[in-house]
Amino acid sequence: MRVVSFAVAFLVASCAQPPSPAVADTPYPDRPDPAEATAQQEQLAYEIAESLVTEVGPRFAGTDGERKAIEWAMLKLTVLGFENVRAEPVTVPRWHRGDIAVELLGAEPRALEALALGGSVGTPAGGIEADVIAAATLAALEQLPPAQVRGRIVFIDERLERARDKAGYRKVAENRKMGAALAARKGAKGLLIRSVGTDPKGKPHTGRVIYQPDAKRIPAAALAAAAADALAEALGKGKARLRLAITARAEGEARSANVIGEIPGQTPEIVLLGAHLDSWDNTPGANDDAAGVGIVVAAAHRIAGTGKPRRTIRVVLFANEEFGADGGKAYARMRRDELARHVLVMEADSGSGAPFRLDGSVAGAEWPEVARLAGELGLETGENGKEGGTDVAPLRALGVPEIIVSQDARRYFDVHHTANDTVETLDRAGLAQATDAFVAIARAVAERDRPFERLPPAQ
Ligand code: ZN
Ligand code: ZN
Repeated sequence: MRVVSFAVAFLVASCAQPPSPAVADTPYPDRPDPAEATAQQEQLAYEIAESLVTEVGPRFAGTDGERKAIEWAMLKLTVLGFENVRAEPVTVPRWHRGDIAVELLGAEPRALEALALGGSVGTPAGGIEADVIAAATLAALEQLPPAQVRGRIVFIDERLERARDKAGYRKVAENRKMGAALAARKGAKGLLIRSVGTDPKGKPHTGRVIYQPDAKRIPAAALAAAAADALAEALGKGKARLRLAITARAEGEARSANVIGEIPGQTPEIVLLGAHLDSWDNTPGANDDAAGVGIVVAAAHRIAGTGKPRRTIRVVLFANEEFGADGGKAYARMRRDELARHVLVMEADSGSGAPFRLDGSVAGAEWPEVARLAGELGLETGENGKEGGTDVAPLRALGVPEIIVSQDARRYFDVHHTANDTVETLDRAGLAQATDAFVAIARAVAERDRPFERLPPAQ
């Protein structure tokens, strides 16, 4: 009974809401069928994202929040009329953040705001104390002689520039992923990075550290931008000494799930629309990735509203993208028999900004079709062979083509992986436009005479 009453409440709520002026005033790219795009439908992606953020909140792998998110997703897909709604088991690692204290020592000691990187080991009780050695980039750290690094805390002080696409992010995020292993190989006791984010007054940004088998696991954390400025200033005046204490620890494994729902087509071929259901533990994860959940669920729902598609639209809400991409790996592993039926994958994991470009990984002969879709949507034609969604990467590696809807990321990295990634920061107009793009592309590929040619599998 709970399901039914929830369903009614949700549907009433979706129909009763007036269109937001922000959305109504925004110019949309051309749509194949303007009559169908009602104001209510344009709000749906936002409503789904808001529901996940406000009713579930943080949903980090292996936590109660994540279990609640899985229940939320099963119910939401069911209420919206998806078929074959199910949860496929995925095993995920558990990690407990604990507390952190970073203290800049000296005549006037001061606390620096920081967050442990996801997966960081803890420090010994009482913390570690060491002089700081700064490096402007990962490449600069690579150049430092071990004698200058040994016994110290390394500080990688690289800024992320505000940009429309994620190319800069992908580069600077390497500091967070690989900095600890590189520093440890040179004998460092700990790693601090300037947060990989763009808000100069923002909260610290977490994200995964990737330890390497050949390097000692050293504690690793990200400083808020203002704290990184303070440390840089102290270093500019001479020596800086820090105390770093982290109580993080690994806690084995937990059971999680990918949540799947379908709009069954007339053929067994599948167009997969994916997003990740999990978030980091320190954030409600509105842009990362409740926004993506809203986009793909709303897009599939809208396609269902215009009749049975030729090919099946399958929505997959992946488990634990943030801390190991286990959901995407498990999904691909379990699809060996079904792999050939996947004709296209698309993933929404770039926040709520408006789309501006289509990129992709499709066979060369199919690229003109992607360019045609971009033109139809009023978007730029980007590059073929680009890195796309993390969760769908294993399918792409097995030869399934991917189309990437590149969304405006100029605001995304202000809040990404921080406590500030709240529902208020969602771009409603951007979400509606991104949903339009997913609808148009997924429908075009689902209705096409022949599926896209496959990619040669990665070596
Ligand atoms: Zn994400
Ligand atoms: Zn993320």
